[in-house]
Amino acid sequence: MIPSELFRCTYRLNSTGHQRVFPNSSLANQINDFFKFVVNSALIDQLAEYSVAGQTIAHGSFIGTTTIVQPTLSHSVTDAAIQQTLQQEINTNSAVPKPDANSLYFIYLPPGTAVVQGGSRSCQAFCGYHDTFGNGIYYAVMPFPNCAGCLGGMTDLDALTSTSSHEFCEAITDPVPGQGWYDDTHGEIGDICAWQTKKLGNYTVQLEWSNKDASCK
Ligand SMILES: [Zn+2]
Repeated sequence: MIPSELFRCTYRLNSTGHQRVFPNSSLANQINDFFKFVVNSALIDQLAEYSVAGQTIAHGSFIGTTTIVQPTLSHSVTDAAIQQTLQQEINTNSAVPKPDANSLYFIYLPPGTAVVQGGSRSCQAFCGYHDTFGNGIYYAVMPFPNCAGCLGGMTDLDALTSTSSHEFCEAITDPVPGQGWYDDTHGEIGDICAWQTKKLGNYTVQLEWSNKDASCK
């Protein structure tokens, strides 16, 4: 399955319930601009080698973005709670498009809120992930890079576009984790090249594994 369309959701509340911009509208806008660019970029072209019969990887489009202000987030949120919120937004918020096999929802969390998934915690064990649930809802979760381990020496924007590109490429090539392009030893194509980055246009993206070239590129 190939996410050719993309929708971004952003949580904007901090633990005290006061509205918090993520963490400023300029950064949120820059990430939107990144997605408008990347869905039609050479990053997608290089994934063409992973096309299979009936599932061609091709350029897509950025649908839009919305801000979620409920429920109020504390210092951590579980993956189950994120799934529940996303499902509710799909059901009740007319601004959120319905899911299909080519759509991917990216969810960004505010500074100070960690994600707990599969017994692990963001910033301690991971910097982002993608998954699927329900009746074919594909999503990725991007906690704010509040720690050195998820900043990798980069600015907030560069760290977020790098990890976003990692999850984006993996959600395209392995939409149901472990059932698509996946290596039992090394994981998904982004995992093999984790934290190796390059500039694509104005943006920092992660290198991705190429089976064809047997290298990260
Ligand atoms: Zn990965």
